[in-house]
Amino acid sequence: MIKPLIVAIDGYSSCGKSTIAKALAKHACSTYVDTGAMYRAVALFMTRQNVTQPESIVKELAQVHIDFTRTPDGAQHVTLNGEDVESQIRTLEIGNRASEISQIKEVRAFLVAQQQKMGEQTGVVMDGRDIGTVVFPNADLKLFLTARPEVRAQRRFNELVEKGQQPVYEEVLADVNARDYRDTHRAESPLRQAEDAIVVDNSDMTPDEQLKVVCELYDKKFQEVYDRYHR
Ligand code: C5P
Repeated sequence: MIKPLIVAIDGYSSCGKSTIAKALAKHACSTYVDTGAMYRAVALFMTRQNVTQPESIVKELAQVHIDFTRTPDGAQHVTLNGEDVESQIRTLEIGNRASEISQIKEVRAFLVAQQQKMGEQTGVVMDGRDIGTVVFPNADLKLFLTARPEVRAQRRFNELVEKGQQPVYEEVLADVNARDYRDTHRAESPLRQAEDAIVVDNSDMTPDEQLKVVCELYDKKFQEVYDRYHR
């Protein structure tokens, strides 16, 4: 039987990874996994417990159970110990905490093991920072998404406004730059483009244009795998 494809999508924060990954998973009839949500859920747990020291964070990991659930309207939400925490994790504060705790080796190992399990049997479209380099170095298709920092800050700003928050654009841009720096300079699995990843710069693309490009790349890869199987 042909094994469903594993698609790894990496890239900077706020460059639309989850939107495109979700749409691609639908196109591919595959499962979507948002690994950023998993780091955010760990960050939320540690914030609630008021645990800040790396050694204590590592000790507390055994208490953290992360899963994904579907709402009646089909949206995917992350759960933390059975509680739907989707809206609580989507704040600047938790994003920053996630970026901090993601520097801890044990936190990464804890989540990477779960992510690998999720993609093992079924195909998966997974997005994050280290999917093509660490989680699935043999992924069938690797995409590296990027966009100019100002474009990403504006998109993030709009999202926060839509959620009823009152962000300041300059702060959001500073946050995007700080997170890029941390994600690319950390010692553990820094964000970098896998050698065999295809770069998609979506600064000047509409969502539909980007989806078309990505779906074509997927279809081409699927055809290659199919042809190899039926040779
Ligand atoms: O993608 P998102 O902004 O939700 O991720 C939150 C933070 O989690 C990122 O800034 C990054 O530091 C971290 N992360 C990571 N590895 C992943 C996914 C997210 O280090 N695979």
